[in-house]
Amino acid sequence: MEKLVIIGNGPAGLTAAVYAARAGLKPLVFAGSNPGGLLTQTGDVENFPGFPDGIGGFDLIMDTQKQAEKFGAYVEYEEITAVKLQSGGPHTLTVSDGRIIECAALIIASGATPRKLEVPGEDRLYGNGVSACATCDGAFYKNLPVAVAGGGDSAMEEALFLTRFASEVHLIHRRDSLRASLIMQERAKKHPKIKFHMNCLITEVVGDSKVSGVRFVERELNKETLLPCSALFTALGHTPCSKMFHDAGVETDVSGFITVKNNTSLTNIPGVFAAGDCADPRYRQAIIAAGMGAKAAMDAEKFLADNDK
Ligand code: NDP
Repeated sequence: MEKLVIIGNGPAGLTAAVYAARAGLKPLVFAGSNPGGLLTQTGDVENFPGFPDGIGGFDLIMDTQKQAEKFGAYVEYEEITAVKLQSGGPHTLTVSDGRIIECAALIIASGATPRKLEVPGEDRLYGNGVSACATCDGAFYKNLPVAVAGGGDSAMEEALFLTRFASEVHLIHRRDSLRASLIMQERAKKHPKIKFHMNCLITEVVGDSKVSGVRFVERELNKETLLPCSALFTALGHTPCSKMFHDAGVETDVSGFITVKNNTSLTNIPGVFAAGDCADPRYRQAIIAAGMGAKAAMDAEKFLADNDK
């Protein structure tokens, strides 16, 4: 039986692996269907402390993995396809290659996926002007026009953040009313750099090797517009990768984010811990995920010691 399995090798899973490996737990990490998580799809990460010149998202993941492996973690590029969890363990996991394994403790660090528009150009230009994180990529668009898709609090927040850099920010929302809280709406509406395009459906992200514009249709007039801009930030909400765990008894909130107790990584099932974006409806930053991963490893280590496992 494995002592500790970690599902996910993004910043949360790998930081948990570094801590757990240094504690002698020899954690087994499953990278899953999107190895490295969202960070590997970002270009340069400029807000992770300790890298004054920034670091590539992929490099940050690979370096953290190397660090975890140095201390005895083992990373497998397979996916966990089914889980059976029981209070106090052991937990039974089905691996994509058919193996069934058991573990005494489990850390879920399975991440979240940003919702997509599902329009032509969006995937092709991802990382070349299309981004799901203004905090990560906004500073690349100094004095350039950018667009934001969405009508929730994240869209308002991203648009306001982008006004620090961009020459103008075009907020494009599919309905004629916003989902965002009134206070956020008002802040965004008051800002002279933000222009609202309401009731507009984005139909294409335009550009050869990088974004040069966004095509949208004004629904009421059925009028098509090609808006020239250098980036499109999608702020359409995130879907946590938690369904399999929820189905196995792990508590989540209404949106599917795994519920952890009192600022720890403890879920409602003893011996099952959660860290990173799958348990974070609010921040979704690499550094926060890494911190949550460290907490999860420390919580798992305590659980294993307390239960003589
Ligand atoms: P939300 O789910 O609240 O909003 C998503 C927005 O994206 C909606 O306006 C939705 O449109 C739109 N959308 C979704 N899918 C598509 C699509 N396929 N095409 C076009 N538009 C689409 O997500 P958020 O990330 O904004 O917020 C998540 C949670 O975090 C909320 O509870 C929010 O309050 C909170 N939050 C709070 C902040 C704060 O207090 N400062 C900051 C950021 C988030 P529609 O409205 O038509 O459904």
